[in-house]
Amino acid sequence: MDGLIETLRGLSLPVAAILFLAENIVIAILAVGFGNLLARMYAGRPVTHPPEKLSRAEILYSASTIILNSAITFIGFLLWRAGIVHFREDVGIGVLLDILLITIVMDFAMYVLHRAAHIRFLFPLLHRTHHHYDRPRPLTLFVLNPFETLSFGSLWLIVISLYSASWLGMSIYLGLNVLFGMIGHIGVEPFPDSWKRIPVLRYISTSTFHAQHHHDREWNYGFYTLIWDRIFGTLSPRYDEDFGRTPGEK
Ligand SMILES: [Zn+2]
Ligand SMILES: [Zn+2]
Repeated sequence: MDGLIETLRGLSLPVAAILFLAENIVIAILAVGFGNLLARMYAGRPVTHPPEKLSRAEILYSASTIILNSAITFIGFLLWRAGIVHFREDVGIGVLLDILLITIVMDFAMYVLHRAAHIRFLFPLLHRTHHHYDRPRPLTLFVLNPFETLSFGSLWLIVISLYSASWLGMSIYLGLNVLFGMIGHIGVEPFPDSWKRIPVLRYISTSTFHAQHHHDREWNYGFYTLIWDRIFGTLSPRYDEDFGRTPGEK
């Protein structure tokens, strides 16, 4: 681990930039590939209507999101080298606490940002692009207006500037972030109907949960959990009833 961190610290800026771009491309390919696999495996449990034909705009928006995510990673790298962002190297219980803490804090901050993005005058600037594709497919996770990508990225940089997480905890959180984003856009429900009755698990976000947000923008603003939607009364009243189903279909 020490060797890896020292290698990272010693990278020249162009090499670091290429490395982060390659990393973000691989992440996107894995997310879309695994998402498409799940969409095929659970094709019998659709939670949204089939998407329209893939457009050139979706591909261009996704490419811009991947480039901007690489830029955010690069800025995080510069902040780390400048001593503004710090990471711990422990691998014990602290890692679990980091994952829990970062997930809850980011979930709340992103819930607030998402609700703000739905305010009438901010919606066209930040979020309309994503909602233009309201029959999500795995790639829709990356179909974001550049300002939306930058606002999420800035939020992440602020959080890691204020809190010294462990390398491992931060990496696992980032992996979970992609996993949840992917599940929210596969258009099918891989979790069983019993999911919504299992204690604790029932508070974890599902494909149905985010597909419902694409179907009806009034509900379900959370990302990883249903906690904030339950607290603030924005959980769809049809969440349980329509779990694992396409809205409007029996
Ligand atoms: Zn979405
Ligand atoms: Zn939205």
